[in-house]
Amino acid sequence: MTAVVEKGTFIDDAAVEDALRAASTKDAGRVREILAKAEELKGLDMDEVAVLSSISDPELMAELFATAREVKEAIYGARLVLFAPLYISNLCTNDCLYCAFRVRNKALRRRALTQEEIRHEVEVLVDQGHKRVLLVAGESYPKENGFQYVLDSIATVYDVKRGNGEIRRVNVNVAPLSVDEFRALKATGIGTFQLFQETYHRATYKAVHVGGKKKDFDWRVTGMHRAMEAGIDDVGIGVLFGLADWRFEILAMLQHIRELERAYGVGPHTISVPRLEPASGSDMASHPPQPVSDVDFRKLVAILRLAVPYTGMILSTRETANLRRETFALGISQISAGSRTNPGGYEEDEEFDAAQFQLGDHRSLDEVIRDISELGFVPSFCTACYRLGRTGMDFMDLAKPGDIKHHCDPNALSTYLEYLLDYGAPETRRVGEETIARKVAEMDPIRRAHTEKMLDRVRAGKRDVLC
Ligand code: SAM
Ligand code: SF4
Repeated sequence: MTAVVEKGTFIDDAAVEDALRAASTKDAGRVREILAKAEELKGLDMDEVAVLSSISDPELMAELFATAREVKEAIYGARLVLFAPLYISNLCTNDCLYCAFRVRNKALRRRALTQEEIRHEVEVLVDQGHKRVLLVAGESYPKENGFQYVLDSIATVYDVKRGNGEIRRVNVNVAPLSVDEFRALKATGIGTFQLFQETYHRATYKAVHVGGKKKDFDWRVTGMHRAMEAGIDDVGIGVLFGLADWRFEILAMLQHIRELERAYGVGPHTISVPRLEPASGSDMASHPPQPVSDVDFRKLVAILRLAVPYTGMILSTRETANLRRETFALGISQISAGSRTNPGGYEEDEEFDAAQFQLGDHRSLDEVIRDISELGFVPSFCTACYRLGRTGMDFMDLAKPGDIKHHCDPNALSTYLEYLLDYGAPETRRVGEETIARKVAEMDPIRRAHTEKMLDRVRAGKRDVLC
């Protein structure tokens, strides 16, 4: 075991500021050189990302977006993996000025779901067709069992079986843990451990985290080191955009990624790109200190796609349906749908006084699926990789030469078909069957034969057909 890193010195503010100062897009030739390098799918360094982040010329912007679309298509094809967040508790001892769950928001109705209530929430999600959840909680666990509460909750989620349905992958977004706690978390069979730094800008971090354990920037930024030390090799990072300058954030995030690659040979499995949304009891949430415009948001997604082409990117229902439609093709690989951010929100079907923030996309899972299918994407409920041990470095070894899509495409289509047969509304089923037929027809003969066999097995009643 290597010594666990305790300080976030790998986030070098001065180096980020220098790179941003030196970047200039007056030189269109330099931008085009960088875009040409990005097309080789080898990623970009900090100086190159700084140059792309300062593009404002419409022609260069269009070229940036076109390159991002090409890279997304080359690596992820048309697939979009679906999941739902599962909020188990809004208890929290921290005081993050942007969040409705913060300890000083006395108006919030507090609640930690019981295991029985969690079971009911999961039943609703399974009956909608979900196969993946992201378990979310504030940083405070019920007195009776402490952190064991989270471990028990994961076991409850995996335990729910409903006809053909079950949750096959539980990802987790909770406060950073010690190495021993991470080991216990891994033992429950989680998929990805997610933790957003919120902001990599130390002064901003200090100004917006005014109480509780989360005040400690270093404890949080070294969280993924501890997770990896404990053997969790699929980790998901993120920034809460709107707190500090987004250009600073993506460069600093790149430093975090390169540090994980240096220390553990593999970077994060996913990047999340939440933007600040209005939240009850938070003035800051409605008035972000450094708001990110829709154009800049799409730009930052495109740049991240080019900078770390093999890292999945997640877009949540914080964003509106329209913005989501415009952003998917620029680099998004996973999306949430039909979400609630209040504990118990699926069973109660209400969204208000216990929620973490306001949602931008209120459509049901089925509506989102039909919409993205009509746009030419393939909704995927695939969970094969981590269940077949393709995680961390093993995943990247397959992903980098482009081999992973030979697994992903058939798995996406077979899990999409499962959804259509078991849960799809008639119109969704019609649209989906067309999408599947078109995608199968586009495959080379060997892959097509293999995929048709998998689809036949699903039509014959078999479920969870993995390759
Ligand atoms: N409490 C844990 C923590 O802070 O790491 C885990 C989950 S927290 C409920 C999930 C994420 O929600 C935070 O990391 C933050 O990025 C995001 N969030 C908080 N307030 C938000 C807001 N007003 N708008 C959008 N996202 C928000
Ligand atoms: Fe608590 Fe997380 Fe909200 Fe901060 S962001 S107040 S830690 S739930």
